[in-house]
Amino acid sequence: MPELPEVETTRRSLVPVLEGATINSAEVGRTRMLRRQPRPADFADRMRDRRVESLGRRGKFLLGHMEGDLTMVLHLGMSGRMQIQALGAERPAHTNVVLATDDAEVWMIDPRTFGFVVCLTPDEWDGSPFAALGPDALDALPRSPQLGAAITKRKSPLKSLLLDQHLIAGLGNIYADEVLHRARLHPLRLGASLDAEEVKRLRASIKPVLEAGLRHGGTTLDDLAYLLPDGRAGEYTQRLRAYGRTGQPCRTCGTPIERIVVTQRSTHFCPTCQPAD
Ligand SMILES: [Zn+2]
Repeated sequence: MPELPEVETTRRSLVPVLEGATINSAEVGRTRMLRRQPRPADFADRMRDRRVESLGRRGKFLLGHMEGDLTMVLHLGMSGRMQIQALGAERPAHTNVVLATDDAEVWMIDPRTFGFVVCLTPDEWDGSPFAALGPDALDALPRSPQLGAAITKRKSPLKSLLLDQHLIAGLGNIYADEVLHRARLHPLRLGASLDAEEVKRLRASIKPVLEAGLRHGGTTLDDLAYLLPDGRAGEYTQRLRAYGRTGQPCRTCGTPIERIVVTQRSTHFCPTCQPAD
């Protein structure tokens, strides 16, 4: 699933096309993509002839701040990606959303339709799950005392805590494993077991991992589900230190990386660098 670095890479590519542009039409080919819109027909009506004032992001969600105080929320789901194309270009299968401006079309291609789009009024936004997201892991990461207070009262494994979008928003399965490897913390350590020094180490590992992902255009796995809007693959894949490297030597100490399952998510770690206690 696209995580913060992939969504931010996507956002930066879409800004020149969407910011300041007026949406001439918003087509949605699969009604399932509108399942979060209180009244599905509202989406196209609200987007049409409306200017995109800015394109932001919180966690894994793209946020289009639209003229008239509406907010477009776009989520790539498990396998969605965005593509920028010329007006009228031939659309491949699974082009489920098309936003057209005067100059270009922005496509959302999502074979599995786990992604979605919505356009919300301020009241709808306030009552939505998006308003309840935690602070963004890159732009608004809480300081160590605040993060520590939130983490050390929880008896959940660190891997699950990092995936909890109410705690901090943006980390998913790949980058949570990478953060824990960098922080030298075992994924099954409970939040409540961390001391202040370990909380600092955890916090200090989040931004460098996300920024490295971002510098390399994010992570494209073998399924090629995530690609940049210009069609290139993200190149962070070759630099991963834990995720997906089961049996391969740890890049720090040479110990084979192990795989376990934590709350149904595959989890990769180095048993030497990340001891269980
Ligand atoms: Zn190691």
